[in-house]
Amino acid sequence: MANDGPVEHGYPHLETVRAAVTALYRRLSYDTIRTFSTSVAPADVAFCDTDDLHLGAQRVARELVRHYRLPDARLIVGFREMQHAANVELEAGPEYFVELNDRFRTHRRDIGAALAHEVTHVYLHRLGLSFPGTRDNEILTDTTATYLGAGWLLLDAFRQDGVSSQKLGYLTPEEFGYVLAKRSLVFGEDPSVWFTSAQAYTAYTEGMALARRDERQPPLTAAGWAGRRRYARDRRHAQDHRPAAVPASARPDVPYSFAPDGRGPLRVSFPCPTCHQRIRVPVRGRVRARCGLCRTVLECDT
Ligand SMILES: [Zn+2]
Ligand SMILES: [Zn+2]
Repeated sequence: MANDGPVEHGYPHLETVRAAVTALYRRLSYDTIRTFSTSVAPADVAFCDTDDLHLGAQRVARELVRHYRLPDARLIVGFREMQHAANVELEAGPEYFVELNDRFRTHRRDIGAALAHEVTHVYLHRLGLSFPGTRDNEILTDTTATYLGAGWLLLDAFRQDGVSSQKLGYLTPEEFGYVLAKRSLVFGEDPSVWFTSAQAYTAYTEGMALARRDERQPPLTAAGWAGRRRYARDRRHAQDHRPAAVPASARPDVPYSFAPDGRGPLRVSFPCPTCHQRIRVPVRGRVRARCGLCRTVLECDT
């Protein structure tokens, strides 16, 4: 896990974050995702400066291992001077060696956040789920941690005051907020009451706005007036110019694309607002579809 540096904001990794959510549903299935309906509780990973450093770190690590249901995994936590914030050796197990930066000796409240990221590496390693390249794999790790209920700790470790700032993990604060919001929309959980950091709360609010926007894109019936108008114009264009429909990639700001189904009726494809798998439905007015991956019911006006 990387350390400090200037804090990046916005959504530079959004495409990979969304791909990570889809990959999680594909690898774990809807049923397994549902077993993560409860987040890691603040009290279970609390760490105060009077706690014994090593015993406390082992206790928090055990709690995270329990959250991921890795019964036989044992984390051995050590501290040393290093450039990175933390690191884990991904070997065959069942013992995994985690190194935390020496600075956590005096910043114990963030040990839970650092371990949340590293234990998620172990979980994904055991699942055999990874993305090619270090950057994308780290984004998969933070997205997984957040979607499955441990990553709110990483967002809460983001703090800024007049003289200093601290941030853990590879997602921007807003991206952490976005994944956390998607999680809370699926599980009906409100993580905002756990935040100790005002900046984390702000990032969560911003992420929630984007997550809600995903649910209001045409052809979903919840789309707003401007979106619907644009959709109707694009549909007319597709109907007049078939079969040469505009590919989705040509207009990154437009999430849907039209394509004929062989010689059959025109179809529209769009990302599921929950898992981002692409859904295809015929263009014929009101359509109710159900995402096969995350089982979200999609009310569409195509
Ligand atoms: Zn990492
Ligand atoms: Zn879905």
